[in-house]
This record gives sequence, C-alpha cells and structure tokens, in this order.
Amino acid sequence: MAPEKQNNILITIDVEDWFQVENLRPWFPPSVWDTQETRVQRNTTRLLDLFDTFRPSIKATFFVLGWIAQRFPDVVREIQSRGHEVASHGNLHQLNNHMDEATLRQDLDKSKKLLEDITGTQVRGYRAPNFSINDRVLQLIKKSGYTYDSSYNSFDKHGRYGRISTNGSRKAGAAIEIDPQFIELPISNLFLFGQTLPWGGGGYFRLLPLSLFTLGVRNILATNGAYIFYLHPWEIDPEQPRPDAVKGVNAWRHYLNLEKTFDRLAELITRFKTCKFITCSQYLKTITIEPPKGNSKT
Ligand SMILES: [Zn+2]
Repeated sequence: MAPEKQNNILITIDVEDWFQVENLRPWFPPSVWDTQETRVQRNTTRLLDLFDTFRPSIKATFFVLGWIAQRFPDVVREIQSRGHEVASHGNLHQLNNHMDEATLRQDLDKSKKLLEDITGTQVRGYRAPNFSINDRVLQLIKKSGYTYDSSYNSFDKHGRYGRISTNGSRKAGAAIEIDPQFIELPISNLFLFGQTLPWGGGGYFRLLPLSLFTLGVRNILATNGAYIFYLHPWEIDPEQPRPDAVKGVNAWRHYLNLEKTFDRLAELITRFKTCKFITCSQYLKTITIEPPKGNSKT
C-alpha cells in the first residue's frame, strides 16, 4: 500500500438546499423553491468551520448552484475567502440529459458567469446535477469554457447517473483526459470482485459503517493515489424540515443518518489526516498525463 502521506483527498461539496434534491422533486418543483426555508447558508458555514479546525486546514471544492449563488452571494464569497475553490453545479438543478442543447448551454453559461461575477475569478470546474452526464454534455461543458468536469459516477445501478466513454482515454491518478484541454475527475468508486461499489460519498457515506467505508477509501487511495468525495450541506442537517408527504424510499434516502453525518465526516478526515486535502484545480496541477504509450503516474 502506498504511504498515506503521498495521497490526495478531494472533498467536493454540492452547494444546494434540501428542497432542491432530485429525490424530493415531486414535492418541491422549482416553482415553490422561493417559499421554502433556506438552510444552505448555515450548513455551508458549518462545513467551512469544520475544515478550518484541521491543521493544515482542509481545502475543498464547492460546486455551487446558480440559484443559490444569485440569492446568497455572501455564501460564495465566504467559500472563496476561506481559500476554497468555487465551481459550478449548474443554475437550476435540471437533469442535463432532459434539456435540449440551447437550454443546457444557457444553464452552463449562466451559472459560470454568476459565480465569476461574484468571485472575480475564472470558474474552471462543473458538476452536473445527479451526475447526469454523457459524451454530448461533456462537449457542451467544454464549449462553455470549463476546463474540467467532475460529474462521472461509474456506479451503474443508479438509474439517473450518466455514462461517458473513457475507453482508450489517458489517465493519471484519479484524472481522465477527455481531450488535452479538458479533464474528467470522476467520483471515486470501489472496484472489488468485478463489481463497482458506490464509495464516493453522499447517501452511501451515510449508509455504510465508517470502519467499512474507511477500508474502501484506503483501497481507492492505494490504487489511484487520490480519492474524490462528495457531500451536500443538507446532509449534515438533521433539523431540516421533514414534510409528512415525503415517505417511503424517498424519505429513507434523504433522511438516513443525517444526525450522524457531521461527526462522521470529521472522523473520516481525522482518519486520513496525513493525506493532502486539496481542491480539484490544485490537484490538476499536480498530475501529468503522459503522452501515449507512456505509463501514467502522479
Ligand atoms: Zn445537486
């Protein structure tokens, strides 16, 4: 196993509120978002405060939804001023494969410009709502001026996750070269016994015991030298509204272990504190994608 201190952990936070999740969409269409209780400000601040308690402090990438950035620009400024990377989670959290090309381009452009106007710096990264990515969408993301995407989740048992073709693509560490100017940073999964197991965070991080999750992360780091983890601010918020109408599997998915997730995240970071916690853009500067025929290395 590679020594842990050589490894990079890329924490990524999809900054959206509890009522914007695809899983709750039947009860909370975008037309009712403006009347919901927003909790994203305090939940994001809690995460920022947690990251600052570690030495050296944790640097993460925050994929911010345009809808949130427009209403709460101070949240975006706070993320930036604490040294993290601001990236885009699109504007209205629509599934990309359900949008025509013109609508998708608008969504990609608008969210990028919104965030750039707030931060005064270039927004390089993009994450699709619900990992709804495909080869066509990747090309449009690139056309909108992003230099990397982090939307590919290779777990194939989840109906909403998209697919991209990576056969023959050059790789280095966790990165996949889509073309020389555009890189994919896929969500980390665990490949074991011929299976792809969802190990990148979110609901699976809330579901699995931390001891087991830790073993999987160690395995991924030993293979790639990098681990890409994702979480949402609402996942650390057990006090969020719980409408009676949300029941069954949707409720289970959304509310599972919310009361444990903040402590669990703190403990996960502690267990890997000899790793470097860096942003996606910082990570991309550390890797070299070798010319064809060369061996990939970090
Ligand atoms: Zn999202």
